[in-house]
Amino acid sequence: MASLGHNRCDVAIQRKAAVRLPSASATAQGAAFTLDALSFAGFAADGSHAMALLPILEFPDERLRTKAKPVAQVDDALRALIADMFETMYAAPGIGLAATQVNVHLRFMVIDVSEDKNQPLVFINPEIVARDGVQTCQEGCLSVPGIFADVERAERIRVSALDREGKPFSVDADGLLAVCIQHEMDHLDGKVFVDYLSPLKRQMVRSKLEKRRRQAAPAGAAAR
Ligand code: ZN
Repeated sequence: MASLGHNRCDVAIQRKAAVRLPSASATAQGAAFTLDALSFAGFAADGSHAMALLPILEFPDERLRTKAKPVAQVDDALRALIADMFETMYAAPGIGLAATQVNVHLRFMVIDVSEDKNQPLVFINPEIVARDGVQTCQEGCLSVPGIFADVERAERIRVSALDREGKPFSVDADGLLAVCIQHEMDHLDGKVFVDYLSPLKRQMVRSKLEKRRRQAAPAGAAAR
């Protein structure tokens, strides 16, 4: 527990995602994503795909409340989206990103908790099949920029999922990886880590983000 006190979940280092991806363009590009089809902007007719940074939805956006549907087919379109999600996560920078956060409401997520950012993990249709113990970690979230709060989670979990080839696997996770998996799986169920805070604290987070967005709006528009 003590050793995890300074770990941060989605966000390892704080950066202004809002400046990189202004909310106006986030809305416009977000509309290109559809829930059932992965026929999103960025694919050429020949199926080739240029990597792209995806806009990240920010709390209290109602789309973060969507419960994601299971992935029916692990195909090239999904793998291209996974590649974009890794690029978006590393650029943010963050250590985990759920599809929900990029407005794709299917059950999968990408994670890399390694120091050198060279251990990418993909979880498709993840299920926690065993859990044990309790740990408290200071969490952050790319969808709630600049906000960090302690959240209690299971200390150890066993997760079953499909990998990016569609092959089933299971992994025993503890520490930061266990926290990160639980945090990202919450997103797939339409939950955000600030839901664990008291209503008063959550309202404070909301006000703080709204204030920051108002202040950042003119500067953000000029910066791009
Ligand atoms: Zn998050």
